Amino acid sequence: MGPLRCPKCGQLRVRRCHREGPVDHALSVVYVYPFLCLVCGRRFRALRWGRRYTTQPTQGREVERIAVRAPLVVSGAGARVDGEITGLSLQGCTAWTRVRLREGATVRLELLLEPAEPPVVVAAALVRSVRSDKAGIDFVGVSPDEERRIRRILTSLHHVEHDEGVPAAPPIQDGRRGVLRTPVFWLMTLLLVLATLVLTVFVPSFSRCVWGVSC
Ligand SMILES: [Zn+2]
Repeated sequence: MGPLRCPKCGQLRVRRCHREGPVDHALSVVYVYPFLCLVCGRRFRALRWGRRYTTQPTQGREVERIAVRAPLVVSGAGARVDGEITGLSLQGCTAWTRVRLREGATVRLELLLEPAEPPVVVAAALVRSVRSDKAGIDFVGVSPDEERRIRRILTSLHHVEHDEGVPAAPPIQDGRRGVLRTPVFWLMTLLLVLATLVLTVFVPSFSRCVWGVSC
């Protein structure tokens, strides 16, 4: 069983995440688990045959922040504060600000992540923690368009940070092997085997027909 790749961005930085709802719980019985891509935030399921995961306490945010330096403007309560982003994820950022932010405040952010483009606007953000002039900020309200931009920027940042000029690995979907990796395939196979067993045991004529005894 090879390492897991994100089906969306093809990166290897994926982490097993919490099961949510009855489908996740039922599938985990047949070793199909939910995973989270730490780069683009995509949640997906994958078969990890024979593997059992133990529950681990969550360590705060689920997606790690990528180191980045970009200008930032924080506005709220009629004031504007300049600063600089030092880390970015889909869910939030860490930033240095010229004026100390107030913990628990809801602010608006303008992130100048692309020099030639207008800033990425986070309409609502929560100042989660403040230590001296550094703050941890969670994005609470981001429009789908802006979220797409952050996702795209994070993916390109990740390539720069880790690949150093090496092109990204192509997504693994090579015909039959690709099909064998999908949870749906394994679930259907399991259901088919179960249905055959039930029919063989409970409907005697079916089993005779299958083995060609009387038909
Ligand atoms: Zn991804």
